[in-house]
Amino acid sequence: MQLSVAAQTYPANYFRSPLDIPLKLSGTFGELRTNHFHSGLDIRTNSVEGLPIYAAAEGYISRIKVSAYGYGLALYVDHPNGYTTVYAHLRNFDQPIADWVEKKHYEKKSFELDIALYPGELPVTKGQRIAFSGNTGGSGGPHLHFEVRDTKSEAVINPRHFGFVVADQVAPVIDFVEVVPYNSQSQINGSRLPRKLPLNRSASNNYATTAVPEVFGPVYLQIKAWDKHSGNEFRNGIYQLVMRSGNDTLYHFRADRFEFDETRYANAVMDYEARMLQREQIYRCFRSSGNFLSMLPPQLPAALLQLSPGETKPIEITVRDFDGNSATMRLNLKGADGPVTGLQEIQTNYTERVIPTRPWSWQNDEVQLSMPAKNLYDTLNFVYRRSIKPYAMFSSVHSLHHPGVPVHASYDLAIKHTGLVDSLRSKTVLVNININKGRSATTGKWDGPWFRSKVRGLGDFYLAVDTISPSIKVTALRAGGTYGKGQQIRFVLADNLSGLQSYNLYLGDSWQKAEYDGKTATLSYTFTENSPKGNLILRLVVKDAVGNETTYQSEINSI
Ligand SMILES: [Zn+2]
Repeated sequence: MQLSVAAQTYPANYFRSPLDIPLKLSGTFGELRTNHFHSGLDIRTNSVEGLPIYAAAEGYISRIKVSAYGYGLALYVDHPNGYTTVYAHLRNFDQPIADWVEKKHYEKKSFELDIALYPGELPVTKGQRIAFSGNTGGSGGPHLHFEVRDTKSEAVINPRHFGFVVADQVAPVIDFVEVVPYNSQSQINGSRLPRKLPLNRSASNNYATTAVPEVFGPVYLQIKAWDKHSGNEFRNGIYQLVMRSGNDTLYHFRADRFEFDETRYANAVMDYEARMLQREQIYRCFRSSGNFLSMLPPQLPAALLQLSPGETKPIEITVRDFDGNSATMRLNLKGADGPVTGLQEIQTNYTERVIPTRPWSWQNDEVQLSMPAKNLYDTLNFVYRRSIKPYAMFSSVHSLHHPGVPVHASYDLAIKHTGLVDSLRSKTVLVNININKGRSATTGKWDGPWFRSKVRGLGDFYLAVDTISPSIKVTALRAGGTYGKGQQIRFVLADNLSGLQSYNLYLGDSWQKAEYDGKTATLSYTFTENSPKGNLILRLVVKDAVGNETTYQSEINSI
C-alpha cells in the first residue's frame, strides 16, 4: 500500500528567528508530553533569562496571556499571511507592550490575564523587540517556547516547515522495541506479559534483534526512540515513524500539524502508563479504534499483528528527524502453533463493554457517569468496584476501572453522599486518586443527595470536604521594614485539597500586582515608583476553590 500524505507547502522565508542566537532545541514539535503533544519548538537560551525576543514578522499583538501556570507570560502575534506566532515563558514584555499590560493588571485587579486585542492596538514590525526570555509558568528551565498556528483554525503547525534552521546531522536513537499483548487471549513466547527486546546497532543506524518472538493472538509493537541534534545533549522527539512489513505500510505517524482539540491524543499514541509511572516516551505502533488523530493517515489499518501458526512476519520500523536523518529497526515475528495452556486464569469478568465511538452512560445507586462519544481511545471492558475506606468519610470509594486508561475530554460524574451534614455541603469536593496515588480534587454542584462534577480520568473517586484554609508562609518580608523601588517581598502559598483560587495583595486600600509562580508556589511583590507611599498596612488575602480564606497582615514603610 502506498501512502499519500497531502504535501502542504508553507512560506519558507517569511519568518525570521525569534532570537538572535543559533537555534538549539530542548523540545520539538509533536513530542510526547503528559496529556499533550508538544505544540512548538522549545528554543534554548544559553541557560539564562533575559535574551531579547523579536517578532518573527510584521503584524499585531492579538492576545496577551499572563498565568502562574502553563505558558506563564505569553504573546500571540497575528501576521497578514494568515499565521499566528506564539512566544511563551517570557520573563517580561518590552515597551510599549509592558506599559499596556501593566494598566490591564490594575484595571482588572488581577495578575492572571488573558486578553484579546484589536489589530490597531499594539502593531509590531518584523524584528521588533517585544519581550525578554524567561522561565515563567510551567517551564522547567530558561527557554523560549515558540509556536506557529493557523490564525483561523488555531491548528498548530511544525515551525520547522517555515525554514527555521537547526543544526542536526545526527540520527535518532532507537532504545528498544517491545511486543505487547493486546487482549486476554494474546501470548508472547507463551506468556501474557509484554516482551522488551534488546537491539544491536550497526554503524549505519540499523538496529536488529536476533530474538524471534513467537506470538499468539493479537499483539502490537511499541518503541522507545528519541532524536539527538548536533552539539546538543537533549533528547528530543522524532518527526516521523513508519512501520512496514515487506511493501505494506502498517503504521505511520508524522508531526506536521494538529488541531487544537487533538493534543490529548498523545495519550493514545504513547504508552500512557509508562509515561505516567516512569516518564518514558514510548511510541505505540498501533492505532486503537478510538484514536482519530489526524497525524495518523486514516486509510491505514489498526496495525494489530495477528499471525497464523508457523507464519513469519518481517517488520521494519524507521524513525526520522525533520532534517532527514533516520534509524531503522528490523525484527521477525513468528506465529505460535497454539496458546500455552495451564497459565494462571485471568479475571475476564467485566461490568460493561464500552465502544469508544458511542456515548456512554452508566449508573448504580450511588454513582452516575456520562461521557460523550469518542472519549475513550479503545474498547473498554469496564470494571466497577465499590469499597468502604476510612479516608472517605462522606461516600463510598467508587473504582471506575483503572487510572492507567486515559480519557479524552472531561465527563460528568455524580456521587451520592453518605452521612454528610448540610453545613459541610458548600465545602464538598470530588477527589480522584491518580495512577501515581496522588489526590486531585474538583468542585461541583449539589443536586439533592448527588454531588455533580466534571472529571478527566478513571480510577478511584470519593467525596471529601475541604474546611482548611490556605497557608501563607512569609519568606522575605520584615514586619515594620522600610521598602523602596526595586525591593521585593515574597510569600509561599499552599492549599491542602481544593486548590488556590485567588490571591490579592493590598497596600493600604490599594490593590497591588503581586506575581505568582505556580511551580514554586511563590507570590512576590516588587515595589515601584507607583507603589503607595508611607506607613501602610500590607494585607494579603488568599482563598481556595471552596471559599476558605486566609489573611496575612503587617505594617510596612513604603518610601
Ligand atoms: Zn514548549
